[in-house]
Formats: sequence, C-alpha cells, structure tokens
Amino acid sequence: MSLHAIDHSPVQRLSQALGEDKVVVGAAVAGYATDVYHSREMPLAVVRPACVEDLQAAVRIAGETGTAVYTRGGGASYTDAYLPAVQRSILIDMTGLNKIVAINERDGYVTVEAGITWAALKQTLDPTGLRTPFFGPFSGFAATVGGSISQHSVSRGSGAYGISAESVVSLDIVTANGALLSTGSASRGAPPFSRWYGPDVAGLFCGDCGVFGIKARATLRLRRRRHNADFCSFAFADLSMLAEGLRVAALEGLDDEHFAMDAAMTRGQIKRQSRISKFATAKALVNSSRSPWAGLKQLVRSGLGGVRALGVAPYSAHFTLEGIDAREAKGRARRLTRLMIAAGGTVIPNTVPAMLRAVPFSPLFNTLGPDGERWVPLHGYIAHSQVQAFDAAVREFLKEREPDMQRFGIWCGGMFMAMGTSAFLYELAFYWPGAHSPYHRLTLPRGYLDALPRQSHDAATSAYMDALRRDLVALYDAHRAIHFQLGKLYPFGSVISGESLELLRAVKRAVDPRGLMNPGALEL
Ligand SMILES: Cc1cc2nc3c(=O)[nH]c(=O)nc-3n(C[C@H](O)[C@H](O)[C@H](O)COP(=O)(O)OP(=O)(O)OC[C@H]3O[C@@H](n4cnc5c(N)ncnc54)[C@H](O)[C@@H]3O)c2cc1C
Repeated sequence: MSLHAIDHSPVQRLSQALGEDKVVVGAAVAGYATDVYHSREMPLAVVRPACVEDLQAAVRIAGETGTAVYTRGGGASYTDAYLPAVQRSILIDMTGLNKIVAINERDGYVTVEAGITWAALKQTLDPTGLRTPFFGPFSGFAATVGGSISQHSVSRGSGAYGISAESVVSLDIVTANGALLSTGSASRGAPPFSRWYGPDVAGLFCGDCGVFGIKARATLRLRRRRHNADFCSFAFADLSMLAEGLRVAALEGLDDEHFAMDAAMTRGQIKRQSRISKFATAKALVNSSRSPWAGLKQLVRSGLGGVRALGVAPYSAHFTLEGIDAREAKGRARRLTRLMIAAGGTVIPNTVPAMLRAVPFSPLFNTLGPDGERWVPLHGYIAHSQVQAFDAAVREFLKEREPDMQRFGIWCGGMFMAMGTSAFLYELAFYWPGAHSPYHRLTLPRGYLDALPRQSHDAATSAYMDALRRDLVALYDAHRAIHFQLGKLYPFGSVISGESLELLRAVKRAVDPRGLMNPGALEL
C-alpha cells in the first residue's frame, strides 16, 4: 500500500490523542529534522511523547494514517539516521521519555526510558556508587540511551566493556502496530534480569537505527564504580606505530577507555578549548578528584606543558586505567607504558584523559569547528591487519583533493580507537566554512554560538563537501570497512550477502509489514 493511499489528518488525530502541546508543527520542526550535516524532507509534525502509552498511541495513529515514523533521540548523529526521507512523516522526539524506571542494585541492572541522556543517567547513578559498563558516547550530554543502542555507539567505558549493545540486558520495543515487545527474560513476563533466553532478540534491535521499532525502555547492566584511576598519554610519530600500540593494548585489556587523535584534530580541540571557559574545566578537575590535594596535583601535572606537547605530536593516544585500588591502577599504567614505548610511543603529560574523567560530558561544542566552521565526521571499522593499507589509501585520496580542499577552506583531522581485540576505528572529521543551521541553533548554548565568528553559506563549497563525503564513503566501501552508525549514509542492504539481507527483510516484514519505520535507513 502506498504511503499516500490512506488518510489524511495524522496531525489532527495526534493532537487529539496526545494533546496539542505534544505535537509541534510549523517552523519549529526544522531544528529537529536537521542533523549535524543537513536536512532532507520536513515532517508533518514533531511528536513529543511523555510516556510509553503516548509513544504507542502516536505509532498506532501513524500506522492507521499510513504515515512514516522517524525517531529522534538526542539528534547527535550525522548519517541522516533520523532525517525524514519521504514526504509524509512524523518525527518522534524521544527526549520526554527520560525517566529512570528502576535501579535494581541487588539484581545488578538499571531500567530507563530510552530518551534519557547518558549524562542524566550517570548523574543519577554516581551517588549510588554504580555505573553502566559502557556509559555513553562523547556526545552523552545530548545523546540518549535509545539512540546510542540503535547506532552501536562507542567510547566511554568501551576499552573494558565494548560498545553500547554489550551493556544491554533487555529492551522494550514499540513495533509498527503500536504493540510493546519485550526481550530476554522479560519476554516471558519475568523481570528484565537476563538477555540470554533463546535466540538473542535484543541483539536484533541493537544497531538497527530504529528500522525494526522504537526502543521505549532499556535495561542495562550495572557494576560498581572504581574510584581509583590512572591516566596515560603517549605521542607517536606515525599511524602504524599508533595502531600497533592500540592493538597490543587491546590484547592486554588494560584500559577502561582510550582514544587517539592526529595533530590536526588535537590542534582543533585545543583551540576550541581555549574558547570554552578554561576556568570551568579546571575547577571541575579539582572537584572530581578524591581529595582537593589529589586534584591540585593532577592539575599541576596536566598543566600547560601537557597542552604544548599534545599540540606538536603527530599522533597521540590517551588512556584511562582503573583499578580496585591505586596500586592496581598504577600497575596497569606501568604495564601499558612499557607496551607503548615498545610500540614506538613516548610518554607525554596526561592532560586529556584526566580532563575527560573530570568532565565526562559537555554541551556539543564539537558540532562546530574552533572558528565556527561546519563539522562532520565519517568513520569506518577495519581489521587491525588492514590499517596500513587503508591509511595509505586515505592519504592518497586526501592528497589528490588537497588543492580543491585548500581552495574551499576545508580541513580534516583523524580520530582512532581499537574496538576490542579485532577492529580499528578510523574516523575523519571534516571542517569547512558554512552557515550555522537550525540544528546548531537548537543544540548549542546561545552565548557560545553568538561568540563564534559568523560564516556564510557557499553553494559551491557545500556541493564539494557532498561529493567529498560520497567519495570517501566509497573508499571505505572499497576496503570493505563496516560502519556502526549506518543511518541512510553508509551502504548496508546493498553490500551484505543475499542470505543475510533476506533474513533481515523477513524480520522487517514481521515487525513493520508496511515499511513505515524509518524508511530509507539501512537499505532494507
Ligand atoms: C560531538 C559529538 C560527539 C560524538 N561522539 C560519539 C562517540 O564518542 N561515539 C559514538 O559512537 N558516536 C558519537 N557521536 C555520534 C552520536 O552522538 C551517537 O551515535 C549517539 O549515540 C546518537 O544518539 P542520539 O540519541 O543522539 O541518537 P539520534 O541521533 O537521535 O538517532 C540515532 C539513530 O537512532 C534512532 N533512534 C533514536 N532513538 C531511538 C529509539 N528510542 N528507538 C529506536 N531508534 C531510535 C534514530 O532514528 C537514528 O536512526 C558523536 C556525535 C557528536 C555530535
């Protein structure tokens, strides 16, 4: 049945069922329907459910009126993931579904509504001495638990505990007919204490970008927080040394989290930090340490010298190592230092990981460059053994385009991470002159945005960026890289085997027979 074959008045029906205050129409929808990079179609309305029943009612009405449903968590993704791709749609803003349903310390899990941010979850859990193993992407100030599980997010805690999906115990999913499906032990009416109960149904909904349904609630594992942490940073002369360092560190399983940057990315971060209040960050560093003395010591150690050393290193890697006591954390740091030096690294001051521990989540300042430029990253995962060949191909790609990139004022920086013992994240972030969009106005603190230099839109630069993005996705594809935040940008349905595709299409037919949930995503 075509989406346009049926009714007529989804907005009116949604307003009647949920209340007008939960249905946003008009100019205000643009901010929600634009991601970090751009927008596509505008939805008929943005719907803001305040409870699971509201969410079910909205999805049911969309189904009855043949209206496509797109779901937005924190809106921090940049792969067209929640952008409407058909004309007749509603966009569900999940941020009103933000309650903590239960912290069950005895059974070791926390159940939340899927629209809660990682920052809010951490803030609630901190006083209990508990944490989720994976505790958010760097965008966790805005990114939601549901959005991150839908996109296989990585970063905070990923060194020790892997990606978002690895912390999931159970999910409650609103399927296309408005019904609620629970996974694992909860699927037989028991509490959500176990993911493992027959086939891994929760796994089907992890990394699905919402094409199989909307996560209404998520249950995540809990573990006790460790207060003892040590921090290490290393400089590397080239990417192959860095990659080797990250590979051997992953095999030893020493860190709670880590990431690495090239010099361009580091310089951009430093420049941006100097725009954001230095004092606020420094104060947080002191407050977060176990005693003010420890904080002061850390501050002195991580002072200006650290920043200077970072700015000149071709590559730098940053690790946080936890232990049950200071001795264990130190022992891990010592072992890591030996491994990194053997891989060709040199010790530099540990400013970056110490700061990140102190200020785990910040407003999404990174959605613009240090001088207010536009920003968008592209990423891919490859096997450790492929890093050198892929890096050579990227260099060649960028060298060919260097004159054009210079002409348009485009620059880029790299971010890297070992994902477990087998995969390597190779991410490039691009910056270019361009006007701020409704997304930036919705997302960034007003004062910060106003203080940035104004940039203007240039159609030729935008068109060049579109082509650059497309060509780089093709380069990743040629190396058979895989992607976690698939959205509508990276190939998926068109590149997986026929058998895998047919299986996923059968699942899609079962949970969303009319293809109303996030049409366009995953190429399903
Ligand atoms: C400054 C910055 C830093 C970032 N750092 C990281 C990082 O460290 N690691 C990383 O992996 N990513 C990172 N990202 C990318 C992005 O923030 C993450 O992928 C994040 O997890 C997205 O969560 P979100 O709630 O914003 O989801 P959204 O962007 O709103 O949505 C993402 C996808 O999930 C779907 N979705 C959202 N909520 C639900 C739901 N409840 N049920 C079903 N589907 C849903 C959407 O339809 C869409 O397909 C970063 C982005 C920015 C801007």
